[in-house]
Amino acid sequence: MDISVVIPLLNEEESLPELAAWIEKVMQENRFSYEIIFVDDGSTDSSWQVIGALREKNPCVKGIKFQRNYGKSAALNEAFRAAAGDVIITMDADLQDSPDEIPELFHMVNSDKYDLVSGWKKVRYDNTLTKNIPSKFFNAVTRKVSKIKLNDFNCGLKAYKKKVVKSIEVYGEMHRYIPVLAKWAGFKKIGEKVVEHRKRQYGVSKFGWDRFINGFLDLLSITFVGRFSKRPMHFFGVWGMLFFIIGFCSALYLALQKLISPDFSITNRPGFYISLTAIVIGVQLFMAGFISELLARNAPGRNSYLIEEKTGLE
Ligand code: UDP
Ligand code: MG
Repeated sequence: MDISVVIPLLNEEESLPELAAWIEKVMQENRFSYEIIFVDDGSTDSSWQVIGALREKNPCVKGIKFQRNYGKSAALNEAFRAAAGDVIITMDADLQDSPDEIPELFHMVNSDKYDLVSGWKKVRYDNTLTKNIPSKFFNAVTRKVSKIKLNDFNCGLKAYKKKVVKSIEVYGEMHRYIPVLAKWAGFKKIGEKVVEHRKRQYGVSKFGWDRFINGFLDLLSITFVGRFSKRPMHFFGVWGMLFFIIGFCSALYLALQKLISPDFSITNRPGFYISLTAIVIGVQLFMAGFISELLARNAPGRNSYLIEEKTGLE
């Protein structure tokens, strides 16, 4: 099979028939063998019935229905487990992404040039204040932290080689950072394609203001986890040691002064309180380091290294 089109959706009943028909048309014109995997992320409208009806007309349409709303990341993750195509293309269900982009995305990823190609909504039809400006900031920070040169990390339209989606686990709200997850898994050939973006025709956006807070917190964890998850003590230890040494040295300095002149009052000096605080912070950082080390040692998946090939071994 050439292509699996993966579509996460929450209450998008009006858009689905049009979207499916459009994808089918593109696939037939290009003679691709394909499947469309709709993941109903706990819709409360008739989306699932619509998917059932689409499947009756076309057996290439497949569906997964969650018992409740788990979020876009969970939906993508489940579909990635199920996808059978050589190339996996994800797109939003709301007709904001154009299926006409599929052939070129497919060819970019199917050649050996790219493992992953991310769409770039260069001209964007969303609310400027709540989406476009914050997303510029968010993309700039992600670019800096991850050192991946993409303009639009959170674009729903992306294409992947099969081995990429089978290697990564999209959890929490990490769908915003799939290129980063892919890079960690060893896929460095990450490309970008300017894609057409359209106005939402039916229904409403499913993400509100909290996307920026959550997105930013996830960015912090992704940075930290990426660098230190296998060796947390290297982070906590360095800072703990620094604080402890600063505190200890300044306390020692005060103690020496007291030895030299007995009527010198230690507790009247601001340095005394600063050194106490520094020692306490240092010890706490060390404790956090030890606890994280214990967790890291005992966490499941501690030996899950991704192996590309073996020779002479089972
Ligand atoms: N979506 C989902 N689960 C959620 C939220 C959104 O599957 O919890 C889907 C949604 O139906 C759409 C896609 O994710 O297909 C992108 O969402 P939306 O269009 O609301 O985001 P926006 O375009 O406003 O960024
Ligand atoms: Mg949308």
